[in-house]
Amino acid sequence: MSTTPIDRQDLIRMIASEKTDERQVLYDNAYRLKLEQVGKLVYFRGIIEFSNICTKNCYYCGIRRDNTAFSRFSMKEDEVLDCAKLAHDYRYGSIVLQAGERNDPDFVSFVEKVVRRIKQMSDNGLGITLSLGEQSPETYRRWFEAGAHRYLIRIETSNRSLYQSLHPEDHDFDRRMACISELRKIGYQVGTGVMIGLPGQTEEDLAEDILFFKKLDVDMIGMGPYIVHHDTPMAGKSPEFNPVRQLRLGLNMIAATRLALKDVNIAATTALQALDPRGRELGLQAGANIIMPNITYTRYRSSYQLYDNKPCLDENAGLCRACLSHRITGIGEDIGYNEWGDSPHFAKRRFEYK
Ligand code: SAH
Ligand code: SF4
Repeated sequence: MSTTPIDRQDLIRMIASEKTDERQVLYDNAYRLKLEQVGKLVYFRGIIEFSNICTKNCYYCGIRRDNTAFSRFSMKEDEVLDCAKLAHDYRYGSIVLQAGERNDPDFVSFVEKVVRRIKQMSDNGLGITLSLGEQSPETYRRWFEAGAHRYLIRIETSNRSLYQSLHPEDHDFDRRMACISELRKIGYQVGTGVMIGLPGQTEEDLAEDILFFKKLDVDMIGMGPYIVHHDTPMAGKSPEFNPVRQLRLGLNMIAATRLALKDVNIAATTALQALDPRGRELGLQAGANIIMPNITYTRYRSSYQLYDNKPCLDENAGLCRACLSHRITGIGEDIGYNEWGDSPHFAKRRFEYK
């Protein structure tokens, strides 16, 4: 495989690629590089979406503060523990705790306690990733000390003015950037990502996003296509929403990111599946190596809809598990059970900095 560094123009070409045969070459190259750099094992992160209460008001998101068209929930400590236990019994290796953003002391203590209890329950077996938005350095530290070791915080777009157009005035790009560097300083493995195919976003913007990931030297990428939620201010601004284009851009971005970043973990996110029943498998075949099965209690799933057509709302964790392992072995990949599945990038980085 060519070792010529990939530049901005190459990235733009890959992202804009439309012809089927051209895209197949792109995906095959990314797939080969994935096998070489991170292997053929797909790692599972069982995701628990434990509360849809959010103090923020992002214009694209279905659970934004001002959307009153659905009921809010917060799982109890024991319920979260129960879901985590399921992931442990299923030998998933890692879980993700995700929710709307809250910064109040009760929430901070709740998460701290839950993380500690999951670590104890699994005898330190389960790796814990948090995806709980912007918090103070003190909060990040407390959660890290309780046992969380990875944190996902998408920058959403690295284009500052586009970011501003997607958020109310008090949502601050610089603050989000500062969170990423704070998390790194504390010692988390940090993941970031963007929404792909946003109204007003160009292929150049997406290429810049990949260069941004590279500059930040992140360990994991969780990005996915933007999907309209009908009850949001952005719904009216997305008249040309085209699922076929969204899926294509999503897969092109995975492949281009794999080719540019090489040894990081890249998730095939659920948003891909919302656009195509085989979306996540296509993501794996375009260079992703992580899947996040939903292990939230079925009764809460319909109240956690960041976007329309979210799949698997009426399935339980057992069904998700059976369906996923079938899908993954069906494309000739294997599942990395009982392992945290940290990225080789993180392992190298840690070694270099010791
Ligand atoms: N509140 C936390 C975590 C939950 S939201 C946070 O915002 O970081 C997790 C991710 O969902 C967001 O980062 C955003 O990229 C994604 N998301 C929200 N609305 C979406 C939509 N309409 N389409 C696609 N992704 C969306
Ligand atoms: Fe809240 Fe996250 Fe949705 Fe923004 S994207 S409204 S912070 S849940």
